Amino acid sequence: MPSELRKMKQQVKIEATHLLFSSANRSFIAAIIVAISLIFLIKDDIPAIYIAAWASLIVFSYLARAVVVRLFIRDKKQTEHMQIWLERFRLATVCCGISWGFAAYFIHMINTMQVLAFVVLILAGVCAGGIINLSLDNKSTALFSAGLWLTAAPAFLLATNTATTTIFIMLAVFILLVGVASKQLAKGLIQSIRLRLDAENSEKEISYLTQRQSLHLEHTPMGIIEWDADLNVTAWNKACVDIFGYSSSEAIGKHISFFMPALDGMQTGHIISRLKQENNQLKKLSNISNQIVHCEFSNTMLHNEHGRFVGMASMVQNKTDFIASQEKIHQLAYFDSLTGLPNRGLLIDRINQTLTSSKRSKSYNMLAFIDLDHFKAINDIKGHNAGDHLLQVIAQRLQDNVRAHDTAARLGGDEFVLVLSDIGSSLQQAELYSKKVIEKIANLINKPVQYENYQHECSASIGICLYNDDSLDATELLRRADVSMYLSKKQGRNAYQFYDNSLQPEYEYQLKLKHDLNHALGNNQFELHLQGQYNRESKVASAEVLLRWKHPEMGMVMPSDFIQLAEETGAIVPIGYWVIKQACGLLKTWQSNPSLNILMISVNVSAVQFNHADFVKEISQAVQESGCDATKLCLELTESSVITHIEESIKKMHLIKAMGVSLAIDDFGTGYSSLSALKTLPLDELKIDKSFVKDFTKDPVDLTIVQTILQMGKNLHLRIVAEGVETESQMAYLSNYGCSMFQGYFFAEPCTVANFEKVLYEKDKNITPINRASIARKTNKTKPLANTELLTEGEAEKNKQLKASHTEI
Ligand code: C2E
Ligand code: CA
Ligand code: CA
Repeated sequence: MPSELRKMKQQVKIEATHLLFSSANRSFIAAIIVAISLIFLIKDDIPAIYIAAWASLIVFSYLARAVVVRLFIRDKKQTEHMQIWLERFRLATVCCGISWGFAAYFIHMINTMQVLAFVVLILAGVCAGGIINLSLDNKSTALFSAGLWLTAAPAFLLATNTATTTIFIMLAVFILLVGVASKQLAKGLIQSIRLRLDAENSEKEISYLTQRQSLHLEHTPMGIIEWDADLNVTAWNKACVDIFGYSSSEAIGKHISFFMPALDGMQTGHIISRLKQENNQLKKLSNISNQIVHCEFSNTMLHNEHGRFVGMASMVQNKTDFIASQEKIHQLAYFDSLTGLPNRGLLIDRINQTLTSSKRSKSYNMLAFIDLDHFKAINDIKGHNAGDHLLQVIAQRLQDNVRAHDTAARLGGDEFVLVLSDIGSSLQQAELYSKKVIEKIANLINKPVQYENYQHECSASIGICLYNDDSLDATELLRRADVSMYLSKKQGRNAYQFYDNSLQPEYEYQLKLKHDLNHALGNNQFELHLQGQYNRESKVASAEVLLRWKHPEMGMVMPSDFIQLAEETGAIVPIGYWVIKQACGLLKTWQSNPSLNILMISVNVSAVQFNHADFVKEISQAVQESGCDATKLCLELTESSVITHIEESIKKMHLIKAMGVSLAIDDFGTGYSSLSALKTLPLDELKIDKSFVKDFTKDPVDLTIVQTILQMGKNLHLRIVAEGVETESQMAYLSNYGCSMFQGYFFAEPCTVANFEKVLYEKDKNITPINRASIARKTNKTKPLANTELLTEGEAEKNKQLKASHTEI
């Protein structure tokens, strides 16, 4: 049986039982009245004791039924206990029937025919009344009437009087008819209960559905709008308020054009056919605050029974977030999240576009690979936020300075790529244009970048590749630009290089070096060479350690080929530490040798190594572990490594000086250190870069620089060493200008430690210790420049200007 039907039957049963029970009170009163009437009728014929016994029986059984009804009413779980109460009710009902049945036995004691007829009539009435009253429950009806007639039947049948027998038979027929009629009555009653319950249930269902519908309309994220035949709003749900910002009171009554201005002034018929065409398409509309909302409309035209258009219902789906997240996904897939520039994927796509278009037009395109110089150092020293900021600024500069159809992309790390299309119809034109653009870009990159209270000077190494057909694919073009970039970095950074097939072997050589460098230290392939530093009397006072890499296949590799590589990979830190330990070890072995124990040793220190957190600790460890005399050790730092983070550098330098170690600035004059900054550094020595020494005897600019450095050394009481001294005249001039120490091929080329020592043993007397005080004294005694007179007037003026600008050297 379907559950709905079962539920309905149960409901009907409950209702019928309630009705049945509620009639019990009525029948109790009726029964008492009838019983009193009967007693009144028979009181003269029947002994009082019988009457009392019967009356008690009646009262008891009706009371019992009344109690059942009352307890049922009080029962809180009457629905659950319905069957039990019904059965108790039936039990009491059968007792009532039996009680009435006993009244039939009075007929034997009644003498008057009239009274007898009344008694029989009363019994028939009671029975008929009971049947009708109980008709809602077949079993109660049957029990009551059966109880009554089965009890009464023997009394009637035993009566000898044929009249009573006849009355009994007639009454039995009458009761049967009443029973049948009451059955029909009960059916009707049950039917009407069912109908009423049906109606009630449907009403409940309708109200529930209506509530649900309005709840859905209010809470659905889907905007729902109803329109009349003129396309004025008649309903506007909450989602519409959220989507468009107009409240329902603002929207209702308004024509559709109030939020679709494109439909303004159009006839309704045209609007409808347009809406039908655009059904389920995405629309870009404005909300009340003039913000763009992307919506999809699904319109249903409503017609009456005659087919006339009566209005429209629209479902509106807000797709604004969806569109935004699609854009975000697109952004993430094709753009770099830090800089917002196109990423590698989109770059390849753009390169491919230029390949296709140049195949047709044959005009040239340029691909430039830009790699920032020393970016790793910024990240390591100033932190990733500073690095990120720098990348963002550079990205913005690139983006702002290319044409709309060109591409500035970020490949990752500090690598950017520019793709410029259509830059010339000949190679010459393209080269000229590229140079112009790249120089402009390099200048932009060179502009200082401010981060917090720190200004970063940035430069880049750039590799350029030109192409005007699709014979090479994007990967090969990128590789070529990368090769050129790498070699331009190798040439000393802040430079650019066009791709040329001849670059390939050099690039491969570099790659091999870079790879092999990782294992060089572990495989014991490094060797110290030494080059002497000489005083005015051409006696050795000191030695500079110059590192050599004995490559198993490529032979002796010079520092110019591997120091920069080691700095890029970070390998310079362990390599530099190894050199310092070796130098300290050498000092220690020289200590017991009277021919060598007066010599100092200078060690080159890379900026990466100096800025490394453990640098001071490593120096102290090397000195202590070797047991050497720290005052014999000198560290050669570069201007840039010290000046970039001057405060930290000064702290480190003081710590190193406290160990007794001397400090020198190498390649002096090539950096941008200001005089005021230099004054604050705890230095012992400046080394004039060999580029100035090379030409100073001919070039007045170099001469001025050399002079200035010597003057500065004098003022700051610093030892000045001129490096790259190759000729006697250079030595003579320098000596004349007050330089006290010299290093260069004029004296000796770098050589192995063994050779260095051998030469010194042979010329034992050539060795002399450095006496700082005496140097300072000597420098003070510097003679005026011997060859100033040789300068022309113009040159002297140029010199003056240069000097003015160089006070900040
Ligand atoms: P540097 O410190 O300026 O070293 C002097 C360089 O000039 C050496 O080149 C030396 O051989 C060369 N030289 C010496 N006298 C003359 C001369 O009269 N004329 C010319 N033209 N050159 C001369 P080398 O040995 O190739 O070293 C090159 C650079 O590599 C060094 O320049 C130094 O910056 C770096 N370097 C060498 N060894 C080390 C090291 O152990 N650690 C670090 N970090 N750098 C090192
Ligand atoms: Ca040096
Ligand atoms: Ca140098």
